[in-house]
Amino acid sequence: MDKSTKTTTSPTGRGLSSRETRSDTIGIIGAGTMGSGIALVALSAWRPVVLVDPLPEALAAAESYLRKHLSKPGKHAALDLVRFSGDLEDLAGCGVVIEAAPEDVSTKRNLFSELDRICPPPALLATNTSTLSVTAIAAATSTAERVAGLHFFNPAPLMSLVEVARGAQTADSTLRELVSLVESLGKTPVVASDTPGFIVNRVARPFYGEALRLVAEGVATFEQVDRIVEQGGGFRMGPFRLMDLIGLDVNLAATRSIYEQTFGEPRFRPHPLQVRMVEQGRLGRKTGIGFYDYSHGETRPPAEAEPPGRAEGLVVVSEGSWGPGVAEALLQAGHTLHEAHGSVPTAAVILAGREEGARENLRRLDRALPLSVPLLVQLADVTLGELLMTAHNPQRIVGFDGLFFAEGTLVTLVGSPKTDPAARQAVDEWLTGLGRRTEWIEDSPGLVLPRIVCALANEAAFALAEGVADEPTIDLAMRLGASYPHGPLEWARRIGLAKVSRVMDHLRAELGEDRYRTAPWLRRWARQGE
Ligand code: NAD
Repeated sequence: MDKSTKTTTSPTGRGLSSRETRSDTIGIIGAGTMGSGIALVALSAWRPVVLVDPLPEALAAAESYLRKHLSKPGKHAALDLVRFSGDLEDLAGCGVVIEAAPEDVSTKRNLFSELDRICPPPALLATNTSTLSVTAIAAATSTAERVAGLHFFNPAPLMSLVEVARGAQTADSTLRELVSLVESLGKTPVVASDTPGFIVNRVARPFYGEALRLVAEGVATFEQVDRIVEQGGGFRMGPFRLMDLIGLDVNLAATRSIYEQTFGEPRFRPHPLQVRMVEQGRLGRKTGIGFYDYSHGETRPPAEAEPPGRAEGLVVVSEGSWGPGVAEALLQAGHTLHEAHGSVPTAAVILAGREEGARENLRRLDRALPLSVPLLVQLADVTLGELLMTAHNPQRIVGFDGLFFAEGTLVTLVGSPKTDPAARQAVDEWLTGLGRRTEWIEDSPGLVLPRIVCALANEAAFALAEGVADEPTIDLAMRLGASYPHGPLEWARRIGLAKVSRVMDHLRAELGEDRYRTAPWLRRWARQGE
């Protein structure tokens, strides 16, 4: 077959101009979601592109996608820089090839062994794999030093992060060139070692895994978890809304791949709830139903709470080292803070954790204050049930998430079967008066945000110790690649590494699972007073 004819014909039959392949041409294999997105990124930076896919329909879809996004007057000429092809041989002459074929190691290895011949050095070869071993893919070539991972995020034109993954044999010069390629495309590169899931897909696993477990354990509904994570933690999207967007099958495949590559590490174990949903074909937005039902259009998070009224009453804050920002948030709301003597308060906040002093305060206030005053007890490394064992008046004691009190507009609350409805109502009204929404969940170790965020920080600490990337890089990658409000390690430092370590210890003790073991790095730094 005549090569020039083949490569210069667009899949829809319109002819695109013929040209020599210049060394600044970027070859892209796979014209699916990622391949066409990466092509748009490259064309937007005025780089010539050869886009290869065996399926003519995929090429046609990619062409109309590119036409749509490059239709603006200033960008239209970029369309002349792309060639579509069904034949890998047309990648000859490209300075760099980015493979974005399906996530299957033998497919990718076959492609790389072909590329080894078609695009000899100094061409660079990169794979967009999310979770497979770059080293295993590179080993299909005879020149593994010029192979690396180049992991774009979906949607590639909007997401600024690109992980550049160093395979076991990747040369420094290859990494340097790929880092500057990423920069020239207007993206932010981060270098990661070739470990399952690199930085973002690995560190993000607990975001989904803990959320699924919270629902399966009956602690909260998936809607509650999403509201708490979004409105209480400041995340852009809760885990269930995000799984629906990514696709439950795609999300499960990533978890499964990392789990298998780590020989069954319990932190990555997939959850049966997600497997069952995939089996039912409830894959999320793309099938019209996942956790949420999209058959009647978009589901939107509920509207924000009414603007706050003024919370009346005196607040007691007793000592205890928990809850960064609780006192500040109350002061901002116009409260004066007092110790537990003097005038009688209408609500009391107690910064209580496991510490004996804080427990002693709880017992003291429980005895001293009138029964009409509800007592709010901070939970995170202790359950309400554990604290109530020594309380005289359990009916007026309510647990709250003080660790994340100052992060958002929603406060997580926990009652017990003994909690007086009047105490619940008083706490609800008082917090609404402070401008906070409330979400009542079941008593459980770590509640929702401490459990999810501490598990994220713990995973980041494991990744750090294993040399996946350094601390600022991990934090940057999670902010840009996963849109988290803070990097997990900077967040852990703000909360206090000792507290994060205690939340993990409590989860492990209560749930009895190895997945909650504290990363040695975290424990060491916590002991050294950070
Ligand atoms: P996709 O299914 O949308 O596209 C894959 C394309 O590859 C299809 O058009 C298919 O026709 C084509 N293809 C199949 N066999 C091929 C072959 N032998 N040679 C060339 N092309 C072939 O998949 P996708 O979501 O674009 O994912 C592609 C890669 O990018 C995977 O490795 C995936 O893990 C990774 N990735 C995906 C995402 C995401 O969110 N979708 C994000 C980051 C990375």
